[in-house]
Amino acid sequence: MAFIDIILNSTAQNLDRPFIYKVPDQMDIEVGDLALVPLGGKRKLKGFVVAWHDELPEEIPSHKLEKIKPVIRVISKKIFDEKGLALVEFMRREYLSGYLDGLRLLIPKGELKGMGHKYRTVLIPGEPIDPDHGFYKRWQPIVDFVASSLESGGVIKAEAVRAGFSLSSINTMLGHGFLQTSEQVDLRYSKADFKEDAARILNEEQELAFKTIAQGEPGTYLLHGITGSGKTEVFLHLVSQMLKQGHDSVILVPEIALTPQMIERIKARFGNEITVYHSRLNDGERYDEWMRVRQGKVKIAIGARSALFLPFADLKLVVVDEEHEFSYKSESNPKYVTRDTAAFMMNLREGKLVLASATPSMEAYDRALRGEYHLVTLTRRAGAGGMPEVVTVDMRKELRLGNRSILSARLASEMEKSLARRRQIILFLNRRGISGFVSCRSCGFVYKCENCSVSLTKHSGDRLVCHHCGHSEYQQKTCPACGSPYIREFGIGTEKVEAEIRKRFPKARVLRMDRDTTGRKEAYEEIYRTFRAEEADILIGTQMVAKGLDFHGVDLVGILAADLSMNMPDFRAYEKTFQLITQVSGRAGRADEGGLVVLQTYQPDMYPVTMAAKADYIGFFEQEMKVRKALAYPPRGKMLSMVLSGREEEVLIANIQEVAKGIKEIISGDQGISLMGPSPCLLSRIKGWYRQMLILKGDLTDEIAIKVKELAYDAVRGKDIRVSIDTNPVNMV
Ligand code: ADP
Ligand code: ZN
Ligand code: ZN
Repeated sequence: MAFIDIILNSTAQNLDRPFIYKVPDQMDIEVGDLALVPLGGKRKLKGFVVAWHDELPEEIPSHKLEKIKPVIRVISKKIFDEKGLALVEFMRREYLSGYLDGLRLLIPKGELKGMGHKYRTVLIPGEPIDPDHGFYKRWQPIVDFVASSLESGGVIKAEAVRAGFSLSSINTMLGHGFLQTSEQVDLRYSKADFKEDAARILNEEQELAFKTIAQGEPGTYLLHGITGSGKTEVFLHLVSQMLKQGHDSVILVPEIALTPQMIERIKARFGNEITVYHSRLNDGERYDEWMRVRQGKVKIAIGARSALFLPFADLKLVVVDEEHEFSYKSESNPKYVTRDTAAFMMNLREGKLVLASATPSMEAYDRALRGEYHLVTLTRRAGAGGMPEVVTVDMRKELRLGNRSILSARLASEMEKSLARRRQIILFLNRRGISGFVSCRSCGFVYKCENCSVSLTKHSGDRLVCHHCGHSEYQQKTCPACGSPYIREFGIGTEKVEAEIRKRFPKARVLRMDRDTTGRKEAYEEIYRTFRAEEADILIGTQMVAKGLDFHGVDLVGILAADLSMNMPDFRAYEKTFQLITQVSGRAGRADEGGLVVLQTYQPDMYPVTMAAKADYIGFFEQEMKVRKALAYPPRGKMLSMVLSGREEEVLIANIQEVAKGIKEIISGDQGISLMGPSPCLLSRIKGWYRQMLILKGDLTDEIAIKVKELAYDAVRGKDIRVSIDTNPVNMV
């Protein structure tokens, strides 16, 4: 008798392990299927078949045989394969995720909900009509219309009627067989509309990069090229080559860079053979795209990180564009690192992983230097225009000279000049709203969110908003704590910048791009197209404006406060700052003449600023690496952060202290690992939940990480406390 192991489709933590079931005689079931199985008394659950046993496994005593229940039925065949299972194991090992978390990456919700395709019944031509037939003149135009519409997906009856044909004629023709019907899958997404775009001829440097990767061995390639050096063009050539050889490719881009521009460029190049897969698709659309891939109808996917898990049969190339972006780290279970997961997959499939960036992550560059990745470099801009010149302005001096405005004298005068030349300007500030926080000058009271520990940000109309949970309230005329009228705003946000710029340059056409102005789906596109069409002069924005946009009219970029990201309490703060400055600067000078970047800061001597100003990536990397080594932060050493949250602070603290004690025992005697905390998280309260954190860093092995995880889950079992564990986190709040 045969048996199978099943992972139940249930989020209950204690059910997240394989359960054994009998295979009834003659049931067509195998690893990769979704099946219905009994659990306990009368419950029936869906489950994934993850292992096959020809006979009862040795570790199960034979008297237990009676208790093993048979599978009820198979729901879907082959919804994942062996490689998918290997990936689930990888997630469990590397990111301490559960089985189900891993499986759910591979299979869209629609499949689990039993969703099907939407079908439409389209008309098709039937028997030819004899020209002598009495109704030939009336009917033949209907046949012609139906035939001509087939190429674009066909028409249903109602559409033919809307086009002016008579319903009764159509019905009669169907009756006589002059028209017939056909069931066609109605794809909820992916309607074809694109312009064609020819591949560009690669320049010498690009050609060399292309050849190195195309002719190289399987493995990971870090494509490090300055902004605008033509990295995209290089990897599009690689995708073309894969297509010619019949292999599948996936191009990952950060969600925020999944711009119409990027999609247009790729659709224009590859046409219908692609799928666009991102978080804005609904369950139905996702299901359809997943099916198209599974049925082998597409060979190329472009999308956010989840596109990596589409069921391609012959995936040989994965491109991770803007590899350094933090959005490539999943913040929900499994908390995977896209780069490492893609490398694992390409290793399994003997394919190639290409990581592209102007500012590679510390991890990626470190591995390239150590020979784990092949390093491929582009040093020159591919299109017209050179690298922009960067001028650093010390804002402390501005203040001493009596300039209290957000614009330094230099930036203001460069803006005048740029406007006079009728060129475009981008102003970057990494904070939205009007101000940083609002506080009382008499007693020090700060407006904070009632649910979270964060200070509220001022928006227009005296509204104060929590950028974490969305809670909002109105600012009072006097201090809620002491009644003093001296309530004041500190710091600035993009909304305030916009107001000041409009006042100062009343004739300029100003746009703002941040999360508040791009709430509607189309809003982002509108702003983008308006600015690209040079129908606006100044674009103010948060990091949204830093990502991959290629504007030809921009010759001036102003970075209003480089310090904002530098002062975050996060060991990656300098890395983020360097990346942001470099990426935003890269928006300048894509026009014919080189551009100018004015970088305002209160800390002009800090190396993220000085190195970014010199566009010296390697200089930055070396400095930063010294710090990382000295403190045993990644990429040297592994890090694990554990956040416990609970509604009652004292109970929470007592529990996390208990966990910390247990961890100390696990790592005792191990010199290479250190434990920090417990301490309150930077966001010490979110939506009413208190949060405390522990950090482990150093020579953490997988075994120790798993022990630590089990210890934590055991400690809180049955209590109203949540555990969240993250290995090599990118977000330390
Ligand atoms: P990156 O991805 O490195 O930022 P892109 O591939 O977007 O660079 O290229 C930057 C600009 O240079 C784009 O406008 C692109 O059309 C142009 N470009 C890239 N490669 C070539 C080439 N070989 N010949 C002409 N123009 C090119
Ligand atoms: Zn007060
Ligand atoms: Zn809040």
